[in-house]
Amino acid sequence: MPRILFVFLDGVGLGPPDPETNPLARLDLPAFERLAGGRPWTAAAPPLIRDDHLFLALDANLGVEGLPQSGTGQATLFTGVNCARVAGRHFGPYPHSRTKPVLARQNVFRRIAALERPHPQPSAFANAYPPRFFERAKKRNRWTVTTLCCLEAGVPIRTLDDLRRGRAVTADLTGADWRTLLGHDVPLLSEEAAGARLSDLGRSHAFTLFEYFLTDKAGHRQSPAEAERVLHALDRFFTGLLDSFDPEHDLLLVTSDHGNLEDLSVKTHTRHPVPLAAFGRGAQQFRHARSIADVTPALVEMAQD
Ligand SMILES: [Zn+2]
Repeated sequence: MPRILFVFLDGVGLGPPDPETNPLARLDLPAFERLAGGRPWTAAAPPLIRDDHLFLALDANLGVEGLPQSGTGQATLFTGVNCARVAGRHFGPYPHSRTKPVLARQNVFRRIAALERPHPQPSAFANAYPPRFFERAKKRNRWTVTTLCCLEAGVPIRTLDDLRRGRAVTADLTGADWRTLLGHDVPLLSEEAAGARLSDLGRSHAFTLFEYFLTDKAGHRQSPAEAERVLHALDRFFTGLLDSFDPEHDLLLVTSDHGNLEDLSVKTHTRHPVPLAAFGRGAQQFRHARSIADVTPALVEMAQD
C-alpha cells in the first residue's frame, strides 16, 4: 500500500472566484495551484480526475442546517461517520459529548491499527504540542478532535522533545511562535524545510496526519494581510513538501472541515464546499467522495489493499 500523508487545513472552502473577498482567488499560490491541476482553489476550478491526481469539491454541510463547525466537521472527517447528525447540529470547536464514543471507536488511527494485516508502524500525528497545551488539556480534560483521536488510539502526541529532535512540526510551521509567544528555545525552520520534514516523517508510517489551523483563525479575523501571510507560508510549505514527496509510491491528501478563509466578507464559517486534493499513488480511490464523511472510509479501504 502507499504511505498516506494527510494535511488537514482548518477552515478552507471553495468560494466564488472573487478577488475582493477570496484571497485564494487573488493571491499567486503556485503550490496550491499545482495541487489543483494548475487552477486556483475556488469554486470555478473544474474537478480534476486522474489516476494519480484528484481535485474535488466536498460537501461539509452534511445535511444539517446552519454553519458547519470544527468539532463535528473534524469528527466526521476523521471517522467517516456523520457526526453533525450524531450531535443533532453543527458543533465546535471541541468534540460534542455525543460524538466522543464515535471518536473513541472509529477514528482513523484506530481503523488503520485494526486492519487485517496491520502495518508495524501504523499511524503518526506529526504536530508538536507545547508543555502548556498538555497542562491545560489535562486540567480541563478538554482535547481537540485530533488529540482525542490520538489518546483513544494510543498514538503519541508529539512534544517539545520530539520537535527538538526534528521529529515533529509546529502548528505555525516555522517554530517562530514557540520562540516568541511560548519562550521555548526551538530551532527556527523555513516553511519549505517544515514541508520537507513532514514528507520525511510520512515515510516511516502507513498514515501520517498534520493539522494546520491558522487558516481558520485568519478567516475569523477577516484580515486580508493575515490571510496573505498564512497562505503564502502554506504555499512555501507545500512547495517544500512536494519537492521531497514521491507520488509514485505515496499519496498526499489535503482537505478541510468547513469553509471560512475563502470569504473574508464574513467573520463566520461558510457553507461552501471544501477542497479535496489527492496526489500520488492511489488517488483515484477518492474519486467517489462527495462529502467530508467519505474521506476516512476511502483511506481505510486503500490502506487495506
Ligand atoms: Zn472556526
